[in-house]
Amino acid sequence: MIDLHCHTNYSDGSAGPIEILDQAIGLGLDALAFTDHDTLEGYDCAKDEAQARSFDLLCGVELSTHFPSSTRSVHLLGYFASDPGECFRAWLGGLQEGRRLRNVALLLRLRELGMDISWDELEAIGKKQMGRPHFAKLMLDKGYVASIPEAFHRYLAEGGLAWVDRDEPALEEALARVINAGGVASLAHPVRINRNPSDLHLLLAVLAQQGLEAMECFHPEHTPADTQLLLGLADKFDLAATGGSDFHGSYKPDVKLGSGRGDLNISAAVLDDLRERFAKNRSLPDSHAAPAYQLKVS
Ligand code: AMP
Ligand code: FE
Ligand code: FE
Ligand code: ZN
Repeated sequence: MIDLHCHTNYSDGSAGPIEILDQAIGLGLDALAFTDHDTLEGYDCAKDEAQARSFDLLCGVELSTHFPSSTRSVHLLGYFASDPGECFRAWLGGLQEGRRLRNVALLLRLRELGMDISWDELEAIGKKQMGRPHFAKLMLDKGYVASIPEAFHRYLAEGGLAWVDRDEPALEEALARVINAGGVASLAHPVRINRNPSDLHLLLAVLAQQGLEAMECFHPEHTPADTQLLLGLADKFDLAATGGSDFHGSYKPDVKLGSGRGDLNISAAVLDDLRERFAKNRSLPDSHAAPAYQLKVS
């Protein structure tokens, strides 16, 4: 069993990379990918330890991207067989700046709404890169909400009292960045975008043409019918069918590493498919990697 979607406390998971690595080894997982939001720091921190313990830890990232017709963020997973390099890392650094500004605006908004919360208190929870789950946890700890879902529903989610929009890269730019860094891009939990088969078909036709090579077919938020639909579409567009628990530790207490809500069991064969794609991309001339979207050089 493998798990290709997991968050450490370098983004919005509650557990540290080494603690999660210990858990994965204890559970007997064959492989694990760290896919923190917009950062590789969790992976960087654990990669040597994983190698020393002969554990297959993959370098991954989950990018929050802007989808033209919607105000909702579309999440794109990137997986890398080797280091994605300085250009990609510098780009991630820029995304984190945008997040920091959003976090300041969000804190100010919550204070305007009468909540006595400070940046220092947030940093004590967030450690590295703060996300909305850290705000939710602090609001819960201070008694402003009764649960994390309530914090999102009333305040933090789109349409909530403290909703703050964030600058995000366009989906096609994120896709191009992953490909240019030698990675394989996988569309994360696609049912959050749409559950309609013909709408998903339309979207995938464009994304596959722009270089999307995988799609997250296995995820705790997918019903069995969703999974079947997504596997059919993955087959149709020659996408690797990836999957993972989207583990966030205590921020999503019902989701376990590896098994999700209990019924996730992703075969190691999924990883073989990904690795074949890594190898194929490396053996192709550079022109293959040039996506339809041209990166803007400033
Ligand atoms: P951010 O990247 O800071 O905008 O926060 C997004 C993260 O918040 C997601 O990756 C989830 O971990 C979490 N999240 C988003 N919506 C909800 C929700 N309704 N309930 C709980 N967690 C959520
Ligand atoms: Fe998250
Ligand atoms: Fe996500
Ligand atoms: Zn995730």
